[in-house]
Amino acid sequence: MGKHLAPKQKHELNFINRITPVINGLKPLAKAVREAPEKRASARPSRKVPTMGRHPWLFYVVSALLLVVIRFLPIDGWMVPAAYAIPALLAITEHAAAAYEKIRSGEYLNRPLLCCAAAVLLFATKLYTESVLLLILAYAAAYMERRLSEQSAGERAKTAEILPQYAILVTEEGNERVDPAAVNPGDILLVPAGERIPLDGVIVDGITTIDTAAVSGQRSPWAVNVGYKVYSGCRNLTSDIRMRVSRPYEQSTAKRIVKVAEAAADFPPEQERAAERCQRILIPAMLGLALLVGLLLPLFRGEWLYHGRRAAVALIAACMLTHSFSISLLYSRALSVMEALGVFSKGKDCLESIARAETMIFDKTGTITEGRYTVTDVYPVKMSEKQLLTIAAAGESFSRHPIAAAIREAAGKLDERVAKATKLYEIPGRGISAIVGGRRILIGNAALLEEYGIKYNIPSHPGTAIHVSVDTRYCGYIMVTDKVRRRAFDALETLRVNGIKKLVLLTGDVISVARPIASRLNFDMLRAELKPEDKVKAVNYLMKNKGTHSTIVFVGDGENSGKIMSHADTGIAMGSLGSDSALASADVMVMDRDIFKITRLLTVSRLVYRAGLENFAAGAGGCALLVILGVFGVISPLAAELLGFLLSTALLANTFRIK
Ligand code: ADP
Ligand code: MG
Repeated sequence: MGKHLAPKQKHELNFINRITPVINGLKPLAKAVREAPEKRASARPSRKVPTMGRHPWLFYVVSALLLVVIRFLPIDGWMVPAAYAIPALLAITEHAAAAYEKIRSGEYLNRPLLCCAAAVLLFATKLYTESVLLLILAYAAAYMERRLSEQSAGERAKTAEILPQYAILVTEEGNERVDPAAVNPGDILLVPAGERIPLDGVIVDGITTIDTAAVSGQRSPWAVNVGYKVYSGCRNLTSDIRMRVSRPYEQSTAKRIVKVAEAAADFPPEQERAAERCQRILIPAMLGLALLVGLLLPLFRGEWLYHGRRAAVALIAACMLTHSFSISLLYSRALSVMEALGVFSKGKDCLESIARAETMIFDKTGTITEGRYTVTDVYPVKMSEKQLLTIAAAGESFSRHPIAAAIREAAGKLDERVAKATKLYEIPGRGISAIVGGRRILIGNAALLEEYGIKYNIPSHPGTAIHVSVDTRYCGYIMVTDKVRRRAFDALETLRVNGIKKLVLLTGDVISVARPIASRLNFDMLRAELKPEDKVKAVNYLMKNKGTHSTIVFVGDGENSGKIMSHADTGIAMGSLGSDSALASADVMVMDRDIFKITRLLTVSRLVYRAGLENFAAGAGGCALLVILGVFGVISPLAAELLGFLLSTALLANTFRIK
C-alpha cells in the first residue's frame, strides 16, 4: 500500500497512520459524548422537577424588577452582592433544575449547566447585573423556544383530532355507542349528519355529502351514495348514513395517518443531526476555552478578575444556543404546513430529500393524467360491441386498475348481466388473465397477447388499445383514453422554476399516447411501454447517474407504483386516500390528486432546507464570533449576552417564514 502514491499523498498517509492511535484512544470518550444525547432523544422530554409551580416566568419578572430597584438603592460594600444575590437565586433555580434533569438523563455537559456556571462566574467577578441578566435572558430564550415547539406540536396534533372518540353500532336491539377499537369488519355503523366517520367502510344506506378536508386537505365536499367507499376522519355533512365497516380500527385511514404523522418527528433531517453534532462539539469546546482563559491564563499572568470575565463570555455564548439551532423546529413547522394540505410525510428527512431533488420522475397514470379512463371506441371481431364489452367487463370484475373501471362502466351502461370472474391474475403493466365460466379471458395490451401467442389486430388509430381474447380466440380491442390534468403544464413549469432540472415521464402505456403528452408538457425524458420491472430499471439507471448531492423524487399513484417508488430517494404517492399500498410504500402521501400539492411540497421543502442552512451558519458562526470577540476583550460580557439573545431570537423567528 502506498507504493504508487505521490509524495504528498504518502505524507498524508503517514500522518493518518500516526494520528490513528490517537483517534482510537479518543473513541470511547467520543462515543460517550455521542451516545448520551441519543438516549435523551429517545426518552420523552419530562420535567419531573417542578421548581416554580406553573408560572416560572413570574420569578423572572420579579428578578428583573429587583435588578432595576437595586441599581437605585444607596448601598455599597458587602451590601451590593448581598442585594444582588436575591434576584440571582430566584433566577438560577429553574436553570439548576433543568441542568439536574439533564445530568440525571446522562447528558453531563448541558446548556443549563453552563448557564449556571456562567452566572456564578459573572457574580464572582463582580458583574452582578450581568449575572442576573444572563439568567433572565437565557430563560427567555428557552421559554420562547419551548412555546414555539409546543405551538407547532399543537398544530400537528390537529391530525390527531381526526381520530374518532366513539362509533354508533347498529344492532338488533338498537343503536349502541361503542369504542371504535371494538368494532369489527362487517359491522353496521350509523353516522349522523355533522359527525366524523369513525372507521373505513362502504355506505349501505343513505345519500349525503362528505367533507374530506381533514384527511385530504381538499376543500370541496363530494356527494356519495349507497356503494361508495368512505374513510375515517372525513366528516359526514348533510344527512345520516349507515355504513358497513371494511377494516378494523387499527388499520383505518385516520389511525394510520395519525401514526405516520406522529412517527415523522423520529426521523430527523441530516441538517438537524449535523447541528446536534456541531453543538456536541461546541459546548465542551466553550467549556474548555472558559477553563483555559479563566483558570490557566491567570495562573501565569494573574489578573483573575479580568480573565474570569473573558472566560464567562465563552460560557455565555454556549447558554444562548438553541436546540439544534432551531432546525428541528423549522422542520416541524414545515410538516404541519403540509399536513394542513393533506400531505403527510413519514419523516422530516423526506422534506430534506425533496429539497435537494434535481430530477423528478412521474409515473404517468394518475399523476399528470387524471387516472380516470373512459372507453372511446370498441372494435369487435366476429361479435357485437356489446358482447366484447361484456366479456371484458367480466374479466375485469375485480381489478383496481383505472382501465378496468372504465370498461366496467361502459359495460354497465348496456344493461346486460355481466358475469364475474372466478379466478383472476393481474399481470402488472400488461393486463388481466381471468377465468369466467370456465374460459380463460385475456384483457390487456399487445405485450400480454404476445406472451400468450395470440394474434391480434393492430389498431388503426393511435391510442391505448385493450385487446381481448377468449381461450385462444381473438375477440377485438377496446380503445380507452385518459385526460391530462388541467393544470399539469403550469404545475410542471413551477417545478422547473423551483430548480427541478430534469423531468422524466415513465409509463406502461403505448408510445403513441405518451409522446404527445411528454412533448406538450416539456418532459426531458420519456420511456413508454414499460413493464413495472422496466420502470424499476429506469429508476435505478437514473439513480446511478445522478449528481452526488442531488436526489431523485418519484411521483406515482398510490395504487400500482409502490414497489418502483422504493428505488428512488423519495417516493410521493398521489391520491393516497384509502390506498393501502401508498401507506405502505410511499415516503410522502398526497391524499388527493391535486398536482399543485407536489409543487407546494417542493417549495416548502426548499424553503425549510434553506432556512436550515441559514440557522446552522448563523448559529454556529455567530456563536464562534461572539466567543472570539469576547475572549479577546473586544466586547463585554453584557454585549455578549445581548447579542447572543438576539441571535437565538433570530433563529427562532426564522420558523415564521415557513408557511
Ligand atoms: P401506467 O404506466 O400508465 O400506470 P400500467 O403499468 O398500470 O400503466 O399499465 C400499463 C398498460 O398495461 C396499460 O396501458 C394497459 O394497456 C395494460 N393494463 C394494465 N392493467 C390492465 C388492466 N387491468 N386491464 C387492461 N389493461 C391493463
Ligand atoms: Mg400505473
